[in-house]
Amino acid sequence: MKTELLTVLDTTDKNAEIAHAADVICHGGLVVFPTETVYGIGGNGTDPLAAEAIYRAKGRPSDNPLILHISEPKEAEKYAYTNDLYDRLAAQFMPGPLTVILPKKDIVPKTVTGGLDTVALRCPAHPVAHALIKAAGVPIAAPSANLSGKPSPTLASHVVNDLLGKVDIIIDGGAAEVGLESTIVSLAGEKPTLLRPGAITYDALCLALGEVEIAPAVVEGLRENEKPLSPGMKYRHYAPGAPLTLLDGEDEAVTAFMCEAAKNANTGILCYDEEIPKMPQGAVLFSVGAKDDLSTQAHRLFAVLREADTNPNITALFAHLPPQKGLGLALYNRLIRAAAHTVKKV
Ligand code: AMP
Ligand code: MG
Repeated sequence: MKTELLTVLDTTDKNAEIAHAADVICHGGLVVFPTETVYGIGGNGTDPLAAEAIYRAKGRPSDNPLILHISEPKEAEKYAYTNDLYDRLAAQFMPGPLTVILPKKDIVPKTVTGGLDTVALRCPAHPVAHALIKAAGVPIAAPSANLSGKPSPTLASHVVNDLLGKVDIIIDGGAAEVGLESTIVSLAGEKPTLLRPGAITYDALCLALGEVEIAPAVVEGLRENEKPLSPGMKYRHYAPGAPLTLLDGEDEAVTAFMCEAAKNANTGILCYDEEIPKMPQGAVLFSVGAKDDLSTQAHRLFAVLREADTNPNITALFAHLPPQKGLGLALYNRLIRAAAHTVKKV
């Protein structure tokens, strides 16, 4: 398949590129579009065949459901049984980087939900995503636009590497601002439960909802025989070609360990900006941002992991173990899985 590459910076309703991409979606095609979290690979969310095409293009198991993207929070009522807690979240965080799980209505095909009776709904804030969903006039089913097993794409060039020739259109809308996938909270069980941490933090959810549980798999591996609350939890997430080890300890001790490890030209170091001058000559460094700037660390993480993977000489990678609070919990969740839970105390 020939993939059309479009750049969209102007998102007025009369934008011809948006209208064209929306038409492709309505005719069963696949369009990669930018959102404020990561790029998404989208198809008509009411068309089971479009959902199947998404799973195929990504190489994703079809029991790992897609997120249904809507242009206004109130559209959720068409696709799910909403409740007071949903209204509270919608008022505070939508449009934005939040996905809510609710019991689904029959109009949503089970291929979209991976066979589940619940559906994931998100109303993105990115102007291109918003304009595309509105112009399509249907909800857009979309997971992240990476090949299954690779880090989520935060730049159109990442998508081109993974999906050129496998989708109809790739819309370049610049770098994804947040850089990590949306926060996922389930309102379909007895208590609100955080299934995936993201830019809408756990504390912010608690302020809005009162008590919120954290699914154990957010910080731990799935236990043997544990049924995942979110199917995505059971799949091995991105693991770099070279094994990644997270370093846990006082700042000085971690920096000292990194300096020593960096003497080996086959070792890649994901370090804070302020550590760079302390590292030895010739060290293979990937700067993740300043220590206290978790937003920049989130924004850069997946691009850094992709970059590290392009260097075939690297046989080991080291990174800081992020704090488990605020946006740090989302970084922790992604890194601990990329590291297959390998943490070294220093
Ligand atoms: P992605 O957009 O690639 O991060 O994929 C969507 C994520 O949403 C996956 O990790 C799914 O497991 C999760 N998800 C989608 N629908 C549901 C659902 N009904 N219940 C729980 N998790 C879901
Ligand atoms: Mg994904």
